[in-house]
Amino acid sequence: MAMKFIQETRQTPVRYECDVVIAGGGTAGVCAALAAARNGARTILVDRYNFLGGTMLNGAGPLHSFYNLYKAFPGAPKIQCVRGIPSEIVDRLIAAGGSPGHLEQDKGGNYDSVITIIDWEIFKDVIFDMMQEAGVRILLHTMVVDVIREKNTVRGLVIEGKSGREAIEAKVVVDTTGDGDVAAFAGAPFTKKHQTTKVGMPFGMLNVDMPRLVAFLEEHDMVNQIVHADKGSDRDDIVRLGFELKKIPLFKEYMDQTGMWGPLGVSRYQGDYSYINSCSLPAVDATDTEALTGAEIKLRKQVITLSRMLREHIPGFEKAHVYWTPASAGIRYTRCVECEHDMSLEEIVNGARFEDEVMLYGFHDSAPRIMIKDAGVYGLPYRALLPKQVEGLLVAGRMITSDFDAHMSTRNTVSCMAQGEAAGTAAALSARANVAPRELDTSRLRQALRAQGVYLGE
Ligand SMILES: Cc1cc2nc3c(=O)[nH]c(=O)nc-3n(C[C@H](O)[C@H](O)[C@H](O)COP(=O)(O)OP(=O)(O)OC[C@H]3O[C@@H](n4cnc5c(N)ncnc54)[C@H](O)[C@@H]3O)c2cc1C
Repeated sequence: MAMKFIQETRQTPVRYECDVVIAGGGTAGVCAALAAARNGARTILVDRYNFLGGTMLNGAGPLHSFYNLYKAFPGAPKIQCVRGIPSEIVDRLIAAGGSPGHLEQDKGGNYDSVITIIDWEIFKDVIFDMMQEAGVRILLHTMVVDVIREKNTVRGLVIEGKSGREAIEAKVVVDTTGDGDVAAFAGAPFTKKHQTTKVGMPFGMLNVDMPRLVAFLEEHDMVNQIVHADKGSDRDDIVRLGFELKKIPLFKEYMDQTGMWGPLGVSRYQGDYSYINSCSLPAVDATDTEALTGAEIKLRKQVITLSRMLREHIPGFEKAHVYWTPASAGIRYTRCVECEHDMSLEEIVNGARFEDEVMLYGFHDSAPRIMIKDAGVYGLPYRALLPKQVEGLLVAGRMITSDFDAHMSTRNTVSCMAQGEAAGTAAALSARANVAPRELDTSRLRQALRAQGVYLGE
């Protein structure tokens, strides 16, 4: 049956005018907003949730990776390749008691040599402080529903929140919605990539006896990642734990049926297995309301079933209960916006460098199967943040990089943060110079990034 349409005519008030508007306050958006405001732009950051941090706070446990994969290549130097604003956020978290900092892996260092664990609630507070200090205007509980467009140039956003439907005019728009919502509204070309990956729903359990659990797992040779660090307890110092639950036939059967894996997780405080990443569904199009709704329901069933099975069958979980689930299913990949440069896996593994690179990165989520050569780093060119065919718009985060294996590097939290800092800085410089982001002098951009502490090589 043909779809019916209704015709709407309305006038939308322009409630805000600014230099740079950032759509989406996930890891990329937060760093973009801080960078734009600190570079003198009147900046607005819009997000649909009641907090900033996005997918990272919806269950993307530890941050991979501020460092290169030096543990997989004996003798390789240890390089902190992501610095600047992402690193400053970690320093602020450490000072606020919200992170033990960058921790070396005791086992599993050829997957990720250093992981950075953070307390999400403290992150929420610290990041609001940082936004206020930088002078970013934040609009929470606000959906971006359209763009203001003149021909192929984006001039701002249409938003909807409790105050109704309103518009924001801006000199430059940055899309950090993860799903490329703004780019799609603006008519930028994109492909849908959800078939290639899984959506997930990590969860947290309290009253887990971590030492007892680890003793059981070690006895059965099930541990694949572990990190020990002080977490304020004299009997429990396990902060990172991954294990192969499928070695137990009962679990294997259920996990294979549902698409679950792992689990891989983080424990921040004694008795708190804060983050258990295992529940999964394949090929969900999270830009389709009905598909997303169905996935949320199925994933919640997985969480409750798996937690019951852990309690009944695995020592250490006997008295445990679920105390945290995310505000949304965890989405890895939906729209991929076509940009002027599309990172290839070959460039990533060979540590390609570019004249207009705006960040360096040294992690791949499929390590040790796929690693950057000789524990090196690769550069991400500015062009990778510039969508084709649309002016006035920059994109950053998990919506770039069309090759699945290459995306397995660029989509990681710390990469998204570094991309955000680059995009926000570029947006502010473009607005100040009154030039389109495409016309921005990249040597000036790189100079500004270096001045704010971004590592672009010696
Ligand atoms: C289950 C899971 C586990 C993961 N584990 C790890 C891990 O351990 N380590 C790691 O490094 N990476 C991990 N990742 C990947 C990583 O967390 C994400 O790719 C990264 O955080 C994405 O950041 P982003 O800023 O691009 O997007 P997001 O964090 O998704 O941010 C997008 C923001 O935009 C907002 N938004 C979206 N649409 C709109 C709209 N129309 N209007 C208003 N606001 C909107 C959202 O609310 C959100 O805040 C994981 C991902 C998943 C799903």
